[in-house]
Amino acid sequence: MTLRSTADFLLYEWLAIEGLSQRERFADHSRETFDAVLDTCERIARERYAPFNRTVDVEEPRFDGERVILPQATHAAQKAYAESGMLSAAQDYEMGGMQLPYTIEAAANAFFACASVSIGSGMLTTGNANLLMVHGTPLQKEVFSKNEFAGRWSGTMCLSEPQAGSSLSDVATRAVPDGAGFDADPLGPRYRLTGNKMWISAGEHELTENIIHLVLAKIPDADGKLVPGTRGISLFIVPKKMVSPAGELTGERNDVALAGLNHKLGWRGTVNTLLNFGEGKYLVGGQAGAVGYLVGRPGEGLRCMFHMMNEARIGVGIAATMLGMAGYYASLDYARNRPQGRTMGSAGKDPSQPQVRIIEHADIKRMLLAQKAYSEGALALALYCARLVDEQHTGSTLAADEARLLLEVLTPIAKSWPSEWCLEANSLAIQIHGGYGYTRDFPVEQYWRDNRLNMIHEGTHGIQAMDLLGRKVLMENGRGLQLLGERMSATQRRAAALPGFAEHAKALGQALQDVGRATRQAWATGNPTDALANAVPYMQAFGHTVLAWIWLDVACAAATRDAGASATDSAGKIAATRYFYHYELPKIGAWLAVVASRDRTCADMAEDSF
Ligand SMILES: Cc1cc2nc3c(=O)[nH]c(=O)nc-3n(C[C@H](O)[C@H](O)[C@H](O)COP(=O)(O)OP(=O)(O)OC[C@H]3O[C@@H](n4cnc5c(N)ncnc54)[C@H](O)[C@@H]3O)c2cc1C
Repeated sequence: MTLRSTADFLLYEWLAIEGLSQRERFADHSRETFDAVLDTCERIARERYAPFNRTVDVEEPRFDGERVILPQATHAAQKAYAESGMLSAAQDYEMGGMQLPYTIEAAANAFFACASVSIGSGMLTTGNANLLMVHGTPLQKEVFSKNEFAGRWSGTMCLSEPQAGSSLSDVATRAVPDGAGFDADPLGPRYRLTGNKMWISAGEHELTENIIHLVLAKIPDADGKLVPGTRGISLFIVPKKMVSPAGELTGERNDVALAGLNHKLGWRGTVNTLLNFGEGKYLVGGQAGAVGYLVGRPGEGLRCMFHMMNEARIGVGIAATMLGMAGYYASLDYARNRPQGRTMGSAGKDPSQPQVRIIEHADIKRMLLAQKAYSEGALALALYCARLVDEQHTGSTLAADEARLLLEVLTPIAKSWPSEWCLEANSLAIQIHGGYGYTRDFPVEQYWRDNRLNMIHEGTHGIQAMDLLGRKVLMENGRGLQLLGERMSATQRRAAALPGFAEHAKALGQALQDVGRATRQAWATGNPTDALANAVPYMQAFGHTVLAWIWLDVACAAATRDAGASATDSAGKIAATRYFYHYELPKIGAWLAVVASRDRTCADMAEDSF
């Protein structure tokens, strides 16, 4: 099956996405307009992205002392992406957008991630501009968001610092009011920033005429001290080049300097930078200090930034998923063509017979089925979450509130589960290629290297797990978990009535009970140190239970498809579901055992015994 046929099935037959066009916001849309967007993105990805995936890996970004140089292919690909209108796809018509459902935007972006994840499709720019649409002033939206949506300027998110990665409360970048009248600037209260930001993706390049950094920094108190903790963090717009309130470049460069490029394992098409803010390399008005305009209120920077981070987390999940999918397609193709070995008959192997293709070996089929289950399952989860985003924005009050809570619980899974298991899929894709997979002559090693990032950025695996068990499943008296349980039970009831699915429905019910019991037992002492010591195994079990539910729901839709739909496709989905229930779901027992017993083997290990 192709990515397109998989996406079409999930969107139209499983999620019944056409129904959204009955809502006022999407009234101009129909299956025809959705298909037109998917067709365009599929074509641009095929023509402008896929042929250059290896080019951007080998031609790493470099700094010539003045400018960061990227391959010409990256310029052409990003230009085509901006011209397609995808940067503002979900925005209002007045902002130049298409008022597309987020679900269609997410599905369309999947084509780019599958073709070449690191050329990038503007996730940071869209996220940056969307954040300002929610928290910015009318002029900030007009000047910054609008130019980002148009592709004239691009965006970054500047959170991390060399000494503050997971622990953002330790951010040390300072922002001080920029003289008398600092709060009368039409672009927002004007500050001068000084500090260093590490790991900033797309932090310096010539792809667009300007770069809009969204920067977390602290405003010192009256004694000049930074307020400890996240309460002291504010958010600022810091353009690379100064702009006028009319949205034109003034010709002056802001005091943001490239300190160096990071040379990465993978994802090399996207430049990654260490930026110095306010070191005095570029004086603004004769003075050192990067000029930044406050967004929202002082002290609310992290809350505003979370708006961008949640979108970014679903985007990271889709990127991980698509790398998994790309590896699956490559290894499926290889397995269909590589002759090696002979099958074992009752009389042993017959060396006079020709070799078989490796897809005929059961172990190869196991590895292909695992990749299919991981990547197609993860895509279904991502689109389900995207559909919840649309519900949150356009559903009834009750439906919107339920969608919000479900997203709270599911976002850590949508980010982390594909990051771990689609990386495993890439490892299996290498394995299927044998020695060839370990060379640069085949694409699968690059998929693995590119994918290895996803468990690290946008909140590491460990941090996501603590967020899930320490906050998300407890919030609002556990209502998010309860709502999720209700959705799973509805799937169970539907599946139990279909031939061949009763056993899966029962296993899902058991898994749900086991997760609920382990959650209570983890928190039995009320002590976060006990509960969170095994947060990652908890997240693994939770994620596998969520994916078992998603697969069973998808299988129900496949089993009840209209006649005429592809029978082999439906059989593949039902087989992937069976694989998940027989080979994957049973793993949760081991993960939950250490959670429920609050096992301290790791936590109590003495440092000097390592
Ligand atoms: C290629 C790339 C692109 C990036 N792009 C951006 C970007 O555009 N903007 C941006 O702001 N940042 C970006 N980042 C930074 C990224 O978000 C951080 O690397 C990440 O948050 C982790 O921070 P750190 O690297 O300092 O690791 P650390 O925070 O030092 O973590 C190291 C390890 O310790 C664990 N750990 C840390 N604290 C705890 C704890 N309390 N309990 C248990 N375990 C813990 C972590 O899980 C991790 O395994 C990027 C990073 C990379 C590699």
